[in-house]
Amino acid sequence: MVNGYRPQTLDEALEIRANTGAIPLAGGTDLMVRHKNIPGALPKFEEPVVFISHLEEIRGVKAEDGIVKIGAATTLAELENDEKIPAVLREAISNMAARNVRHIATIGGNVCNASPAGDTLVPLYALDAGVKLASTNGVRTLPVQDFITGPGQTALAPDEILTEIVIPTRSFTKEYYRKVGTRKAMALSRVSFAALADVNGGLIEDIRFAFGAVAPTVVRSREIEKQFISRTVDEIKGDAPQWAQKFAPLLKPIDDQRASAQYRRKVAINLAVYFIEEIL
Ligand SMILES: Cc1cc2nc3c(=O)[nH]c(=O)nc-3n(C[C@H](O)[C@H](O)[C@H](O)COP(=O)(O)OP(=O)(O)OC[C@H]3O[C@@H](n4cnc5c(N)ncnc54)[C@H](O)[C@@H]3O)c2cc1C
Repeated sequence: MVNGYRPQTLDEALEIRANTGAIPLAGGTDLMVRHKNIPGALPKFEEPVVFISHLEEIRGVKAEDGIVKIGAATTLAELENDEKIPAVLREAISNMAARNVRHIATIGGNVCNASPAGDTLVPLYALDAGVKLASTNGVRTLPVQDFITGPGQTALAPDEILTEIVIPTRSFTKEYYRKVGTRKAMALSRVSFAALADVNGGLIEDIRFAFGAVAPTVVRSREIEKQFISRTVDEIKGDAPQWAQKFAPLLKPIDDQRASAQYRRKVAINLAVYFIEEIL
């Protein structure tokens, strides 16, 4: 059985978090599965839960002051067709789960779940997203890559709730997202990849590559990306495999039931080659 609190406001939810350490439950699509030990039985929770998906303060999307602000309890279905959301993130969301799951699952839940195969994380890393964390003591904002500290691990304090995902408003001339999974809708990624670039007069002014499900967390390297900057597209395309291979040291995949480490490494590099040769 679930021993749960249903606060009316965010402040009330934060008080509950501070006083009881109750686990936030948004859509429950990860949490309920994780706590279901016996098939057919109700999920069993050792700790109380605090329901948050109905809290208006952490729902909806706003674009203001050069930032897209996404309430953590906004469902994936709500984000999928919202023009304020960067196309690369919408593309990732439309490839996640089945429609009925997307109507319940939230973006905050996907971020806090911190799976190396979490599909919103790959575009969020590429987009330089940040996360806003609230507690009764105040609010702090972290870059998403500092929030995710390992597989299933985050910097969320026991009294905090993720309230907002913030993305700098910025357009790119080239955007690409690809999820390689077993079955498109219902599978977690074997490998996922997002790449963004700004090309002006044939010159690369900005470029970002993010890889999912190939290491304990999503990986991205600004040091490697910097090597592309101020070079011509023709120069990079001229030796795409060599440029893509620069990302190989970041890839530390594991063998699991979905794919072998060797397969994951190969697919990740091939996706980078494809982006350089066909999209850039
Ligand atoms: C059939 C099925 C298919 C799926 N397919 C995919 C897929 O293709 N890709 C993919 O990435 N995932 C997939 N998932 C996993 C899941 O649906 C997503 O990760 C989803 O976004 C989780 O959101 P939620 O609101 O349901 O999270 P919940 O289950 O409510 O919570 C997940 C975790 O985040 C914490 N949490 C949630 N919200 C907050 C908050 N605001 N502040 C602090 N902590 C919070 C919870 O305490 C919990 O630890 C699938 C799940 C199912 C059941």
